[in-house]
Amino acid sequence: MRDSVNRRKFIGATGSALGVGLGMGVSGCVTNPEYTSCPADATPVAGTIGALVNQTPLMDTHEHLPPEAERLENVNKNNKTPAPDFGTLMNHYTDSDLRVAGMSGEDYNKLIGRKLAPKEKWNLVAPWYERCRHTGYQLCVRESVRALYGEEDIREDNCEAISDRLRDDIKPGFYRHILRDVANIEHAQVNCLNIPVFRESEPASDLLSYDLWTIGIATNVNRKTLRACAGAEVATLKQAHATIDRVFERYGPKAIAVKDQCAYHRRLDFEDVSDERAAPLFERFAREEKLTPEETKALQDNLFRHCLRRATEYKLPVKLHTGYAAGNNSMNLARVRDNLCDVSRLTREFPDTTFVLMHIAYPYQHELIALCKQYSNVYADMCWGWIIDPASATRFLKEFLMAAPACKLFTFGGDYIPVEMVPGHARIARRGITLAITQLVQEGWLAESDVPALVERIMRGNAKEVFDLERVLRAQS
Ligand SMILES: [Zn+2]
Repeated sequence: MRDSVNRRKFIGATGSALGVGLGMGVSGCVTNPEYTSCPADATPVAGTIGALVNQTPLMDTHEHLPPEAERLENVNKNNKTPAPDFGTLMNHYTDSDLRVAGMSGEDYNKLIGRKLAPKEKWNLVAPWYERCRHTGYQLCVRESVRALYGEEDIREDNCEAISDRLRDDIKPGFYRHILRDVANIEHAQVNCLNIPVFRESEPASDLLSYDLWTIGIATNVNRKTLRACAGAEVATLKQAHATIDRVFERYGPKAIAVKDQCAYHRRLDFEDVSDERAAPLFERFAREEKLTPEETKALQDNLFRHCLRRATEYKLPVKLHTGYAAGNNSMNLARVRDNLCDVSRLTREFPDTTFVLMHIAYPYQHELIALCKQYSNVYADMCWGWIIDPASATRFLKEFLMAAPACKLFTFGGDYIPVEMVPGHARIARRGITLAITQLVQEGWLAESDVPALVERIMRGNAKEVFDLERVLRAQS
């Protein structure tokens, strides 16, 4: 594990604080090209802050990485996509912009499939990549190939070599190598998407820990998940609550947080639905009778509030998806717009619960700053934000730091399924953090002497304070 760059070392390296104004600045860009892309016009102050941001390990609060063993197994499985070639880099998020730019679903499937050679795939994707190459998602592809393979871009003449490297690198320990050595990430929290509530295939470690997922037991409750958690049919609301209690008893101590992304399918206005009202609804649900949308929502409201009480008891921060929806041609923007107004009711009614509102609620990030400024139990997570809209994320960081307490912010989560894309995202985040902090200093809003402690806090200190990794690691044994 790398040492953080503390204030003493920082000042030692630059002569005096940041060395600006005294003519002692470090000239040019002193960032380590391994971890970040330094702005081309880097001033001394930007270069110095860049070096600090570059050397500070990130605590990554959100990824979707499957187990490494699964990636190893899939290399030679012909029915598994994405194929282990450069198509892997175009599989998650990248695909959304390609599709919106006009690439057909059929061609996209060929891009990630196993039938075409890398050059054939390149010919298929090149026209669409050219049309959207400036977006954060596509920039992340280039930053990842720079970090991993020393290439500036994917092209016809290197797509085969990049594909060979990508495939050859999939070997035991490659997660640790990519996260630690390439991306300078200290630890990553993982929300696994193909398990009912909690990943048990491998224990949490100094590198990875796992979220407890409440979709299947509450916000999109389904009978199969409840049955799997209870070990029997769940027929009554009382039994459903007991099942949720059992889930928290079993996994709460091992989980780093609770994660829920029900904002993809419903509003976040969880009302206080009494057990008396929810009990008959649950019984009908258990008998597979059809519930109206209002009845379904009432049942979910009751179950999720039960989860919140348990999360609070187990001191688990509750991470909620807010803002922009992944994918294409599907987002309900009216619902997205209401996310933070809706959730503010919960933040008032559960004052002892820590709420982590994810993805800067893009494009409603000002509302998130307002909530974090007002409520002591609300935190903002910039995960995914740097690649959705890098310029907005940079502005968000500046505005957040001047409005809300700096201790309420987590600045990085790659939010990726393929680990190969995380280094690119981390480089973009480091560039944005460098730009935001540099601008605050240059504009006179932030004292140079405050920079080292602030960078340490927002890149890793806050996550260490709020997420209890030591408790998680103790519970593994
Ligand atoms: Zn996510």
